[in-house]
Amino acid sequence: MKIRISSFYNLLFIAALLGCLVAPAQAVDIESVLNTAYDKYRNLEEGANADYIPALAKVDPELFGIVLVTVDGKVYSVGDVTSEVSIQSISKVFTMAKVMEESGPDAISDNMGVDATGQVFNSIVAIEQYKGQQMNAMVNPGAITATSMVKGKTGEDVWKSIIGTYDDFAGRKLSVLEDIYKSEAETNQRNQALAMLMYAYGRIETDPLVATDVYTRQCSVGVNARDLAMMAATLANGGKNPVTGKQVIGSDIVPEVLAVMATAGLYDDSGQWLFRTGLPAKSGVGGGILAVSPGKFGIAAISPPLDPAGNSVRAQKSIADISNALCGNPYDPVPEGSCGSK
Ligand code: GLN
Repeated sequence: MKIRISSFYNLLFIAALLGCLVAPAQAVDIESVLNTAYDKYRNLEEGANADYIPALAKVDPELFGIVLVTVDGKVYSVGDVTSEVSIQSISKVFTMAKVMEESGPDAISDNMGVDATGQVFNSIVAIEQYKGQQMNAMVNPGAITATSMVKGKTGEDVWKSIIGTYDDFAGRKLSVLEDIYKSEAETNQRNQALAMLMYAYGRIETDPLVATDVYTRQCSVGVNARDLAMMAATLANGGKNPVTGKQVIGSDIVPEVLAVMATAGLYDDSGQWLFRTGLPAKSGVGGGILAVSPGKFGIAAISPPLDPAGNSVRAQKSIADISNALCGNPYDPVPEGSCGSK
């Protein structure tokens, strides 16, 4: 079609067309997208709290909150965004990021690897299959190994470095939920066994029981939905906290962090999650999930009941709806603002 742009009416037509393409992006009201997802799923009674760590079974299953933080630091929230749950496996992302920051991404890929295991997160078979390699830092053996790789002379030094990193990602001082830590420390014999095996295969080079204890502490850190969304937004913003302005990790390692999250963030349901959302994400058995839309936003939801794969039911559904409504999928080539119909 030939367009005679000298014509005033043609120009008017082009302007109107552009207006149509651009308008939906501007019209999306993030607050109402969050409210819609919250209302849709708040009464959904699927899944159950994790109970293999006894204290997790006692957390209120009705707790439900969602927060989205844009890369320019705007915070949108709905529901309970102040109650804390234990961060659990979501911590694995930020400990791995710390190791990559200190020792380079290859330190992770060369040691425990960056491949999906296809096994549950505390699988012993997954270790045995490749002698502690060709797995990843999002499953327990790889995560405890990553904790052991954080620089520090003593377990206490390593712990201080880890919690300091989490504080910077969240933009506030976080602390351990002592009841959760105690409960998990009393019942973490399986994790101790995983760490011992990783030590036996030369993947862990420090005291494996100290590494397991620091790992247990990192999993017991208390976070609310806002903290998790801020941590995700820091990754979405190239490693710089969008509210405090602190560059927490180098922007050069963010792609590798996100790649591991995409591969294994929701355990053996990571493929299904990626298929539906395209978002690098991480779940924890405390009921939190965070997800990253690179260059756009970080989002998190907390709701303790989990599906059989160990991922929060309400958090998965609400984050997927919200991200798809806001064009969050980094694999989606449609122009900004025209993907909301999914
Ligand atoms: N602390 C938990 C564990 O080691 C973390 C597991 C999880 O959140 N998937 O079993």
